This record gives sequence, structure tokens and C-alpha cells, in this order.
Amino acid sequence: MSVSLLVVGSIALDSVETPFGSTADALGGSAVFFSFAGCLLHGVQVVGVVGDDYPWDRLERLAKRGVDLGGVTRASGESFRWKGRYSYDLQNRETLETRLGVFADFEPKIPSAFRDAQYVFLGNIDPELQLAVLDQVREPRLVACDTMNYWIQSKRDVLIELLRRVDVLMVNDAEARQLSGDWNIYRAARWIMDHGPTHVVIKQGEYGAVLVSADRVFYVPAYPLEEIFDPTGAGDAFAGGFMAHVARTGDETQENLRRAMVFGSAMGSFAVEAFSVQRFDEIGAVEVAQRVEHFAELVRFDIPSDAGGAGAS
Ligand code: AMP
Repeated sequence: MSVSLLVVGSIALDSVETPFGSTADALGGSAVFFSFAGCLLHGVQVVGVVGDDYPWDRLERLAKRGVDLGGVTRASGESFRWKGRYSYDLQNRETLETRLGVFADFEPKIPSAFRDAQYVFLGNIDPELQLAVLDQVREPRLVACDTMNYWIQSKRDVLIELLRRVDVLMVNDAEARQLSGDWNIYRAARWIMDHGPTHVVIKQGEYGAVLVSADRVFYVPAYPLEEIFDPTGAGDAFAGGFMAHVARTGDETQENLRRAMVFGSAMGSFAVEAFSVQRFDEIGAVEVAQRVEHFAELVRFDIPSDAGGAGAS
């Protein structure tokens, strides 16, 4: 049985300014970053909307890599556009402009061929639409979901209703704090798990990401990069790596989710090495495997038996 992976999210044209340069109308959006990263490991089915001004040929690069764009509607009107500017340390970003265009009327319709998807990623969109997606998929094995401050504030009740149907919530630390009302990220994760998800992934940018489950915590560092050009889409690329690893192995055990965290971090690190999705045009399975191996080296260590470990007297 083929194990399919579905993503629903924004398909955007991004204009980004960082201290190192800028882009205008570059490929972006959660579904796009997710797909460019995910397709390095597994096929991806995409549901989203673009306007008639979208450079379809650029999106079609994905189709050549095993991404099924059969759920992308081409509507008449302007595509979703997002403009952002990063601070010098790339830690903070200011949204300069959001033009919803055809995204304003987006009502995700899951093609019948996608309704049996076993793995589903709900990119950051209105939680009511995220719920509508779940109503259309039959029996997913694992549902992961992202959200943002705007929805936490404006649609909190719907978001909490959605959480009951989500297995893995992937948010950054500020979002986890805002959602739970708790400053401590581990207590925040516990609060989230009390509302439905069995796992919470808390992304901490250059400090890595934490997977919190009922009785275990797993931490993966961010890849130590000397040059970062554009942090946009790192979280969505992370989700793409994480979910594609789970889908290609068909294994949702705790041990495998730990590996998925490393594939997620690897993809996030590729995303930030260049503007937009450029880096994903340059890499393949070999580069991904090498980076994952580097992650293993980053955290591998031994405790000699005479160095004060459990056996020391
Ligand atoms: P991230 O850096 O992971 O937060 O994702 C950035 C991507 O999210 C960009 O490519 C934007 O096009 C997209 N984006 C920004 N604002 C929104 C929004 N309100 N709804 C959906 N996608 C958005």
C-alpha cells in the first residue's frame, strides 16, 4: 500500500529583506517550503491556491521531483504575497505587508485521490480551514499541525477544538508560551498535550528543536552554520523533513520520531542557507544523508566507565 503524505498550506510570493540581500516575488509559503524539503525523502501531495500571476513553471519544478500538484487550484486574481524584513541578528522579523489575494477565499478541497493520505501536515492557515481539511481525509495515521500568534489570539477556541484531532503540534517557543499561557516550554508542552496532541515539537530557531512526549524529551540542535542568508521557511522545511521521514518509513514510534527530528533539522538548515527555496535546487539524497550524519556526530559522546558515570563508586 502506498503511504501518502498530504500538505495543505500557503503558496506565496515572498519579498524578503535580510542584512545580506533581498528577494522580490520569490517562491514561498508553507506548502512550498514543506514540499521542496519533503520531496527529497518522499512523494508529497499539495493542496493550496495560486492566482493567475503565479509563475507556474517555477512551481512545476516540484512536479518533476515527485510532488503531486493536483490539489493546487489556479484562481483568477492575485497570488498571496508576503513581505518581511529581518533584524541584523536574524532573530526578529517584521512583516511589512501581507496581501491575501486569492488566498482570502481559499477553501481547501481535497481531491478524492488525496483523501486516503495517511500522513497530513496542516500548514499555518486559519484553524477553521485546518479542521475542514481533517473533515475531508478518511483515516490519517498521523496529523501534524502548525499555527501562529495571529490565530492563537483571534481563533483560540477553534484552535483548541482542532488540537483534539492533532497528533503532533509543531510551534515555536513563543507560540507554545502564548497558547498555554505558561512561560516554561516543558510545562507549555504538557498543557498542549493535555488538549490532544501526543507529541509537541517546539522549534527554537538557532538553538534547535525539542520533541516533548508523555514521558520523554528529545532535543536536536540546529546545524552549526557559519552563514545564514534567510530564515524564512525554516519551520516549514523542518516539517517537510520530519513528516516525509515518517511517511517513507511508515513508523510513528518514539525512536523513529527522534530520527524525524534530525531530518527536520537538516532540512531547516538547508532552507536558511539561501534565499527562498534556492538551496533545494542544489541538493539531493547524498547531501541530506551527509548532513544527517553530521548531526549524529554533533551529539555523539561516550562516558568512559571510570569517568563518574552510573558505575562509579
Ligand atoms: P516560517 O518562516 O516558517 O514562519 O514561514 C514563512 C512563510 O510563511 C513565508 O514563505 C510566507 O509566505 C508564509 N506566510 C507568512 N504569513 C502567512 C500567513 N498569514 N498565512 C500563511 N502563510 C504565511
